[in-house]
Amino acid sequence: MTNFHPDLELITEYAAGSLPLAQGACVSIHVNQCRRCQRIAGQLTDLGASLFEALQPVPVGDAQLDAVLARLDDEKPLEYSHRKSSPSSTPAILQRLMRGDFSDLNWRNIGSTLRISYLKTGDPDHEFALYHIRAGGRIPEHTHRGTEMTLILEGGFSDANGSYHKGDFLIRRPGDVHAPTALQSEDCICLAVLDAPLRFTDWKFRWMNPFLKLRTA
Ligand SMILES: [Zn+2]
Repeated sequence: MTNFHPDLELITEYAAGSLPLAQGACVSIHVNQCRRCQRIAGQLTDLGASLFEALQPVPVGDAQLDAVLARLDDEKPLEYSHRKSSPSSTPAILQRLMRGDFSDLNWRNIGSTLRISYLKTGDPDHEFALYHIRAGGRIPEHTHRGTEMTLILEGGFSDANGSYHKGDFLIRRPGDVHAPTALQSEDCICLAVLDAPLRFTDWKFRWMNPFLKLRTA
């Protein structure tokens, strides 16, 4: 049961296709799994289409038309993982970016409870990373210099504001401080999209702050 969704403004930007690539991918994975957000995005797309129809047509040159038609042939079909152990429970966009499943990724250990794998989306301004938090593990208290989108893919975590489960979508704004702790019952895997590095507020980890750089593209 999904309890946390992108707000209307974000779904509107998503439906209009105006979100940066990495953020759009994150919202799209949630929307594909969430009937509520699918319905809203569908209504907004219909609204956008009717606004479009009301516009005065503008003539398009032959070169432009040819360019658009040529791009239709470029689209590669989505590649799905062939492993029987993980049928299609992993969202298609992630399967495409991961080229395998979670165990095939290049993970960097951050202490004993957290490991991070950075995926390349082609978005130069956003980091797109998977976080794997061991069951019961805690991410040191940190704040955000920018916006952080989080989508829970497996398991769940809690912080001072609540508890979040598979499918939940969260957004943190600059200045928000939190220390997520994975549920005791299972490991948590979530997707995080950042436009600025984290900043640890926990004194034991503050020394790392100057080294935290955004890993993009
Ligand atoms: Zn939703």
